[in-house]
Amino acid sequence: MGTSSSSADRVAELAELLRKYKDAYYNGQALVSDAAYDALEDELRALEPEHAILKSVGAPVNEVVTEWEKARHAIPMGSLNKAVNEAEFRQWVARCDQLGVESALVPIANDLLVTEKLDGLSLAVNYENGKLVEAITRGDGQVGERITSNARRMKGVPARLPEPLTVSIRGEIILKLSDMKIGFPGTDAPPRNRAAGTSKRFDGAGCEHLTVMFYDLEGGDTEHATEKEKYERLLQLGLIVPPFEVTDLEGALRIHNEYSSKKRAELDYEIDGLVVRANDLRAQHLLGELGGRPRAAVAYKFASLAKVSRVIAINWETGPTGRVTPIANVEPVEIGGATVQFVVLHNVSNVERLGIGVGHEVLVSRRNDVIPHLEEVVVKHGPSVAIPSACATCDAALGRRGEYLVCTNLQCRAIVEGRIRRWVGTQDILELGDKLIAQLVEAQLVREPADLYRLTIDDIAGLERRGATIAKKVLDNLKAKLPLSLPVFLGSLGMDDFALETAKLLVANGFDTLEKVQAATAEELAALKGMGAIKAKSVVTGLAARSEEIQRLLAVGVVPVAPSAGGGLAGKTFCFTGTLPRPRKEYETLVEKHGGTVLSGVTKELHYLVMSDPSSASTKAEKARKYGTQCIDSDAFMTLVDAASSSAADV
Ligand SMILES: [Zn+2]
Repeated sequence: MGTSSSSADRVAELAELLRKYKDAYYNGQALVSDAAYDALEDELRALEPEHAILKSVGAPVNEVVTEWEKARHAIPMGSLNKAVNEAEFRQWVARCDQLGVESALVPIANDLLVTEKLDGLSLAVNYENGKLVEAITRGDGQVGERITSNARRMKGVPARLPEPLTVSIRGEIILKLSDMKIGFPGTDAPPRNRAAGTSKRFDGAGCEHLTVMFYDLEGGDTEHATEKEKYERLLQLGLIVPPFEVTDLEGALRIHNEYSSKKRAELDYEIDGLVVRANDLRAQHLLGELGGRPRAAVAYKFASLAKVSRVIAINWETGPTGRVTPIANVEPVEIGGATVQFVVLHNVSNVERLGIGVGHEVLVSRRNDVIPHLEEVVVKHGPSVAIPSACATCDAALGRRGEYLVCTNLQCRAIVEGRIRRWVGTQDILELGDKLIAQLVEAQLVREPADLYRLTIDDIAGLERRGATIAKKVLDNLKAKLPLSLPVFLGSLGMDDFALETAKLLVANGFDTLEKVQAATAEELAALKGMGAIKAKSVVTGLAARSEEIQRLLAVGVVPVAPSAGGGLAGKTFCFTGTLPRPRKEYETLVEKHGGTVLSGVTKELHYLVMSDPSSASTKAEKARKYGTQCIDSDAFMTLVDAASSSAADV
């Protein structure tokens, strides 16, 4: 081939890059955006259309990083040609129809099936006699990974089809935006990356938040004449399919326009274009393939909402859990009608992966959910940013927890203010705004949520620009929220991976008292649907770390109640000590059954200390008397329970 040496160099460079990016992509770590990858591929195609890497679909699955069993696809999973604008799309239709003339085909321009191009991971699910036998990721198109156990947990993958079919159905694993909020709160990493990582986890945790939408089937009992019939068949089998429509060329353009102007932004999942196919399967067959890609199908992409900008600074902000979030300050660019100036970089691992530094040119995008996202570093000018070793707020040394840098100084103002904001935010105490919180922390009146309940009117009224009126309002509102339900109490604490939703999940699964939640083991929690081992561990560790703080909350009267409280012992707290006629567990169950709360120790909030000898002079009993707690024996306790039972029966 007569390529000059410089273009030969470029070809080698491009091939090298594409190979690297492909490997990374299939190992779940996309180094560049699809848009950038496509651009490089286009450049290579222009220089050397026959280059081998353009023909290899996907990349070999790396042997080292995975323990999933490899599996060969009975029918390879290909990829699609693409069109990035109207001209290319029209060109594709024209080319198909030109070729179709030779085979005496009806023009496909009049019979196209249009559907959404889901931004996820392709999956083939095989059924034998209606029973799910295996699910294989796309991998390199020939060989993928058998992730059957994970696929079974995903939404939309039935263990059994309504008919005893032997069929291979193909679809896309996606993470809906609403499911991401519930399953992976606090992250705004691209859902696709989340779905990729989660679907290949060896423990399967989080797979229940993923959804599979199907768009193709191979085998089965029926011959289909059109693409539409296949979609209808999938629907008939009870499977989820993306919306589809049969139309002509102009109709396809209209649909594309509707999506890019409005519909796409309203979806609960991400799509990056439309897939348009000849509806007639005979036409698909006759048009055949070119370079492993079917001629009769095209991915008609949306214009990217991305622009290149330059990094001015990278700031490291310590958040309420101590996690440090890197934020890129870029030269303002207008993307999709909004000016983007700050882009959240999520965590230190992401910064290291990007190799980003001040002065670098970066591709900034706005995703479906309008959150600015840094797609990639386009050109590096100068070194990567130095990873800080000290907290920007308190100067304490930073530690590393997983992908995050964390400030380990619990007195750090960023952590204290953030945690107070979380506490009042979860409870909707509007009067306690960020500014007042900052003042309270600054004045060292508040170090943790429990301190809020020790505040006096004078404390608040003494602050700059505050008066007795607002002070009274704040304190009244704090008290008005009590008692807190257990989920609100736990969710307000602002622990890692432990938001309100997680707390509700625990309560719904029978962990409905603080005692039970605190006694739960990571193994017990990991077994709950929607939890997962990592989160379970995080919850247990978080609770242990906060046990003293929780005690201090109880001590100031913030005692959580079960959401369904209302039994005869509602609002009453009990502690059992020493040897009792029956197992302690039995008494505790009685308390909870009647809506009461079991405390583990003697605090000011304890109403009853149950013991064999109420006149005992033990330290516990003495302490209880000092607090005004009633010391009773087990008979007296049973009398209370009987009274509670009969009062409940009266209702
Ligand atoms: Zn700090």
